Amino acid sequence: MTWLFKTNIPVDVRLSFVRALYGNRETLWFGLAAHMLACMVIYFKTGDIVFVIFSGLFALTTSIRMYDMHVFDRADFSRLTHDKINRWEMHYLLGACAICLILGLLCFYSTYVIDDPFAELASLSILLASVVSIVGRNYASRNAVVMMSVCALVPVLFGFILVDSIYHVIIGALLVPYFLSNIQMANGLRQSLFAAVMNERRLSTVVSRFDTALNNMPQGLVMLDGRASIAVVNKQVRDMLNISQNISLLNRPFEVVLRYCSKHGLFPRDELDNVRMRIDELLEGRRQRDVFHFGNNRYIEVMCNQRREEGAVLIFDDVTGRIEAEAQIQHMARYDGLTGLPNRFYFETLVRALTAGNKPDDLVALAVIDLNHFKHVNDSYGHHTGDELLRQFAERLGQLDAERFVASRFGGDEFVLFIQGIKDRSHINTVMDEVTAYLSGVYEFASQQIYLDISAGVAVDIMKNVDLRGLHVNADLALYEAKSSEHDRWVAFVEAMDTKYRSRQKLKNDLREAINAGSLTVVYQPIVSLNSLRIVAVEALSLWHHPKFGPIGPADYIPLAEEMGIITELTQFMLNRACQDCAGWGHKIGVSVNLSAIDLKNSGIVDMVVDALQKAQLPSYLLEVEVTESAIISDRVKTCEMLQRLKNSGINIALDDFGTGYSSLSYLNTLPLTKVKVDRSFVRDIVTDRRAFMLLRGVTQLSHELGFGVTIEGVETEEQLKLIRGTGGADLVQGFLLGAPLSADEISAQLGRSLSVMSNNHAEAVQADELPS
Ligand code: C2E
Ligand code: CA
Ligand code: CA
Repeated sequence: MTWLFKTNIPVDVRLSFVRALYGNRETLWFGLAAHMLACMVIYFKTGDIVFVIFSGLFALTTSIRMYDMHVFDRADFSRLTHDKINRWEMHYLLGACAICLILGLLCFYSTYVIDDPFAELASLSILLASVVSIVGRNYASRNAVVMMSVCALVPVLFGFILVDSIYHVIIGALLVPYFLSNIQMANGLRQSLFAAVMNERRLSTVVSRFDTALNNMPQGLVMLDGRASIAVVNKQVRDMLNISQNISLLNRPFEVVLRYCSKHGLFPRDELDNVRMRIDELLEGRRQRDVFHFGNNRYIEVMCNQRREEGAVLIFDDVTGRIEAEAQIQHMARYDGLTGLPNRFYFETLVRALTAGNKPDDLVALAVIDLNHFKHVNDSYGHHTGDELLRQFAERLGQLDAERFVASRFGGDEFVLFIQGIKDRSHINTVMDEVTAYLSGVYEFASQQIYLDISAGVAVDIMKNVDLRGLHVNADLALYEAKSSEHDRWVAFVEAMDTKYRSRQKLKNDLREAINAGSLTVVYQPIVSLNSLRIVAVEALSLWHHPKFGPIGPADYIPLAEEMGIITELTQFMLNRACQDCAGWGHKIGVSVNLSAIDLKNSGIVDMVVDALQKAQLPSYLLEVEVTESAIISDRVKTCEMLQRLKNSGINIALDDFGTGYSSLSYLNTLPLTKVKVDRSFVRDIVTDRRAFMLLRGVTQLSHELGFGVTIEGVETEEQLKLIRGTGGADLVQGFLLGAPLSADEISAQLGRSLSVMSNNHAEAVQADELPS
């Protein structure tokens, strides 16, 4: 039977068709009543009991159909299949066709079997009346309409034909087009129904997709109609505005939503007018977007798209993350991460804001504050404590009166303090004394206390001249003075500092030129054997003949070159020159070159030394480099590594100025040294002070016993030399007595000659009892 229901109509659409068949049951009851009444009337008219049977058949069939319909109502259509639908359509068809067949048979019986004119008229009338309802009730099923028509028509036609009257045949023939046109009508109705159902189906698909899209978009959306009432609203808007899903928003003016929000604390009530006004501005197109800060600490951006007279679409976006990130970025851009103080950029803005109301002649000041020995705190207590100290220090700074002070951390341990409200130039003294006393002193930590001392430089000026950068430069110069002063915690800037600074800058430029041009003079101070008093080596010393200031000693310009970062150029120049000159002395004596602490931090120093030796073709044992204790202390691991590499190349390493630095004897043992140069301060008083002599002797013997060669520096008098000869352990001596620094040529001339400083008598060792008392 499935051929009967062959269809490509979607199953859910078919269900709605079948539901149409099963619906509208009143007409069935009405039909049953009409059919039974007609049968009974014909029975009373004709007295033929068969019509009562027809009446019973109608009642029975309709009852069965009604029961079937009752079952249909309870059927489960959740899992729809065409088979299931087919079954129900078949049930319906059987019932409906049975009624039509009974009607047809009623006519056949009246026309042909009893041939009673009233029965014929009545049954044909009731049949035609019923046929009309075939279309009305059953247009949804093509099968039902056709088969019911056939079931009703065929017995009637048979009856008409069998009566054997041409008139009946003609009238019967007319019934055919009538039935056909009924079928046609039903088809038309069905197609309309189909189109309507399909449209509804499409619409519901679109609606459900729209709904899904609307409730799954990240933003909230409110669509307003032309009267600014809500036509569409999604879940997200409710979430953002804290409106429960149970509250119906559709068709309500948007203004009501705003009132609801203010009532429920999303924003304060007195903000309502302001919020309303801003929303109106959006709706009127005067603004594209606006960000609202709601009480639940969320930032909601609202954008509006106009739809002309049709209203507007409001898009709600939760931009809390973005706003907070922006705020954090802004905070990071303005404040120092460690201490929370304003950074240098924001500091200027704050100072400008604070001084906006000042008069042109008001005095203001800028102080630069430096934590003394902060590096030492870091080194001894660790960076964590260092950071904590900076934080606590910043906290104290932050406690200063904000009406008068703006504090800032410029980086490292450099803090800047802007000061206003200075009554006169002497008042700054009081202010600085108080502030520096407040900032220095004991800082408490969980497990220890740290005493912090600070240095500060301050520059004062009147408001109309103030240029923060200029003030800062001046305060920095004053700080430089404070740092080098032993007594003053803070120093105020005076013009002379600037002059000094400028000439220092000028000197730096000149030095750079001198080093670049290789115009420094190199002199060599003899290093003499204590036994033979012959020159065995020389120390290369640089000397700068300034075109304007005359000779400037290395003690003055070496620190400058180090500060400028050009010391390595100077070292390279000295190494090259010393190696060349030494090679010119026929490999008879060695040469010593001083290295700076900075050189030893530079991995290139080893190559530089080896390169100088190669260029001069000088054997490495003739070169010695001198390093000071401070150079070793500053970065012991790195320095040690460099020295070891130099020693591996066969170069001698002397520890210069021994005894003047930190004098930690322990490292003597661990460093790759070949020689110790005992500083001249050990020699100065040996003639007059027995303890000084014993100290020199101790140091010398200790160094000697550790396996180092020993040079004693700064020997100026014959008495000193005589005593030194008695110490034991020293190999070499150096000092003005044995020779001041000379040019390379002068050294050449001296070679081979024994020094004339002492007669043989003098060269005798001093006995212990001759020692000074
Ligand atoms: P230093 O390495 O201890 O060099 C010896 C210094 O002591 C020289 O001073 C020398 O003239 C001086 N001197 C020598 N004998 C005596 C003496 O008997 N009594 C006294 N009072 N002084 C004596 P100078 O040339 O002024 O050098 C000072 C320092 O400058 C040197 O001390 C050295 O550390 C540094 N220096 C000199 N030239 C260079 C260089 O080319 N490179 C580096 N990095 N430093 C250098
Ligand atoms: Ca030296
Ligand atoms: Ca020295």
